[in-house]
Formats: sequence, C-alpha cells, structure tokens
Amino acid sequence: MDQLSAQTRISDAAVRSAIEHLRAEHGEYEMPANTADQWELHLYYGSLSATLDGDAMLVRVAATDETCLSYMKMTVAGHVAQRLGTASGLRWQGDGRDGGTPVFFREITVVSSAPISPHMQRLRFHGDDLGRFAHGGMHMRLLLPPSGRPAAWPVMGADGLIVWPGGDDALVVRAYTIRAIDVEGGWLDVDFVLHPGQDTPAAAFAQNARAGDVIGMIGPGGGEAPKARSVLLVGDDTALPAIARVLEDLPRSARAQALIEVDSPDDRIALPQAANIGVSWLYRQGREAGTAGLLPKALREQSHMALGEDLYVWAGCEFADFREIRKIVRKEWGLPRDRHMVTAYWRRGVQGENGAGEE
Ligand SMILES: Cc1cc2nc3c(=O)[nH]c(=O)nc-3n(C[C@H](O)[C@H](O)[C@H](O)COP(=O)(O)OP(=O)(O)OC[C@H]3O[C@@H](n4cnc5c(N)ncnc54)[C@H](O)[C@@H]3O)c2cc1C
Repeated sequence: MDQLSAQTRISDAAVRSAIEHLRAEHGEYEMPANTADQWELHLYYGSLSATLDGDAMLVRVAATDETCLSYMKMTVAGHVAQRLGTASGLRWQGDGRDGGTPVFFREITVVSSAPISPHMQRLRFHGDDLGRFAHGGMHMRLLLPPSGRPAAWPVMGADGLIVWPGGDDALVVRAYTIRAIDVEGGWLDVDFVLHPGQDTPAAAFAQNARAGDVIGMIGPGGGEAPKARSVLLVGDDTALPAIARVLEDLPRSARAQALIEVDSPDDRIALPQAANIGVSWLYRQGREAGTAGLLPKALREQSHMALGEDLYVWAGCEFADFREIRKIVRKEWGLPRDRHMVTAYWRRGVQGENGAGEE
C-alpha cells in the first residue's frame, strides 16, 4: 500500500533523548534489524524510524493515509511534549497538513434526537466527507463548544500537535462511539447515556439537543471489532453502542457472548439475534451506575476454558469494574495482551477522560 511520510531533523539533545525514551517504551514493536544508530518501530497507526546523523537525529513517520500520518506525528510530538513540556523543537516536512483544520476533524449538525430507552438518547448528525470515520476505529471525540458563542475549532500546530481554543472558546471533549454511519447519506448516529450528575456537558447536550445544533468531532480511533472465533463482550450502558456494532458485524464463523449491565429491563435495546450470539442482561435496579459490581461478578461465573480456544475478551465500563475485569482476565485467566482489550469508559466522580484507563 502507498505510504505517506514526513520527517523532522532534531539537533536538540533533550528532544533526542525524549525520542529514545519513546523507543524504549515501545520495545515490543522494534524491528529485528534495529541498531543503536538506526531503528524502526511499527505502531498501530504507522511506522516511526530514526537515524542518527552526526549530532542530529532524523525522525521519520510513515502511514497509509493522512489521518494516520497525523496521528503518528502526534504520537512523536505528544511524547516529546509530555517529557519536556513543549514540542516546539519539531518541524515536520513532507506529506500531511501543517496548520489549518486537522484532517481528522469534522463539523457535524444535529438532524434528529429520540429516546431509544429510558436512559439512552439517539442523536443523528449530518456531516460531510464522513468516509474516513467508517473504518479504522469505532470511536471518536465530540467537541462541544460553549453555548451562546460561535464555535472556535482546533487547528494543527507545526509541531504536529493540536492547538486547542482556550479561554471563553474552550471546548468540552468527550469520547463516544459511532453507533451507525452512512457515508453516502452523510449521517452518523451516536447513542448517549442520560446519566445523573451535577455538571455533565455531554449528557446535558444530548438531553437538550435540537435540530441545527452544530458541534465538532475528531477521529476515528480506539480500535475496531475484535477478530477471533470466540468473543466475550462485557460492558455497561456506555459500551452498549460498541457492543451492538460488534454483534452486527460478527462473522457467522465466530460466536459472541455479551454480558451487559443496565439499570432495568426497560433499558434493554434490540440487539442482533442469531444462533452464534448469546446476550445476558444484568440489572442494577436503582443502584448507582459503577457501584453494583455486576460485570466482574458475572465474569467470574464464566469459565474461560468453556468459551473456546481462540477467545478474545473486550470490555468497556466504569473504572472500578474495569480494574476488576482486567485483573480477572489477565491474572486469573492468564489471557495475553493480544487476547483482550479492557477499557474504562468513565470514572465515578471524574469528568471526561481524566482517570479513564485502558488495558
Ligand atoms: C472509547 C469510549 C467510547 C464511549 N462511548 C460512549 C457512547 O457511545 N455512549 C455513551 O453514553 N458514553 C460513551 N462513553 C462514555 C462517556 O465518554 C462518559 O460517560 C463521559 O464521561 C460523559 O461525559 P459527560 O460530559 O456527560 O459527563 P462528565 O462531565 O464526564 O462527568 C460528570 C459526572 O458524571 C459522571 N458520569 C459520567 N458518565 C457516567 C455514566 N455513564 N453513568 C453515571 N455517571 C457518569 C462522572 O463520573 C462525573 O461525576 C465512551 C467512553 C469511551 C472512553
């Protein structure tokens, strides 16, 4: 497949050392022919290589499309910024946009809003040029502008990082799943949990959304449906859109078992029914979300040996359940990293993705 690439030459010793640190953190992705002076990593969105040239280091990223290339630049720049507080020493040359609207950003407009269960609201959004959001990740981040002000959207910095609007223009950013998408028709659906809480920008947006409301979206990301002969899906209401997508796309040759926690039987939504799909609904019955511990309990009652040889466990839920599920899957069942993806979709008492975690 054709590759796009971009490179940056680094003379600053601190930036070079940050890149070496990135290499060390991703040791498992090193290519066999790597040396101290020339190395290459193959990461999820593309490759990253470095060549020492005297006192300088030439860093090159390559990927199959502009979105992935941008993500690769962000991986490098984000790591440098995390170590040094800034990535301003990086200047990319080659393919991809520098400055202006990020290639992975779209403005989307509410078309309709309807409840699909007592605690779940489905919003349909119109958007242009949605093709890239139909593959390469089921999730994206919604960008919610402050109400009553014209939206100011992010732009790309020359270092490869997003420059976010600040002050009164600051955006609220929340991760959501693309429940359904029709590229030709120019629309996508997002199912929002209408959860309780004091200050809940995304849930409140979904509750009050009107046709014509404009928000932003960046993505896609966060992985695709697990590919295995036996898939165990574990999640609360927030993971229900992703679980529904995985079940809809499940090949006939695979089988899936889903453990889903919602408040009550009224919160069930229609899911695909087939001989190779089993769904168990677990009910909190008025207990606060994230406190009932139903998912880890149900997981412990499963025998992973009985679930089949080629088992993949996928889970999305509140942080406490996430930690317990990860423990069961990794320590008690001994599943290797490439056989599970366990993600905290939210954390009690914490806003947005602060405190959320993966794997
Ligand atoms: C990859 C990914 C995909 C996701 N997909 C979806 C999706 O498709 N649909 C969906 O509804 N959510 C989804 N989520 C979860 C969603 O991002 C969080 O629930 C988010 O915190 C909601 O933002 P908010 O502005 O409403 O509340 P926040 O401002 O983030 O939080 C305010 C308060 O509400 C609490 N809170 C947040 N979520 C919940 C909840 N579900 N139940 C009870 N209390 C809560 C917080 O702990 C906090 O105390 C996803 C998360 C991830 C990481």
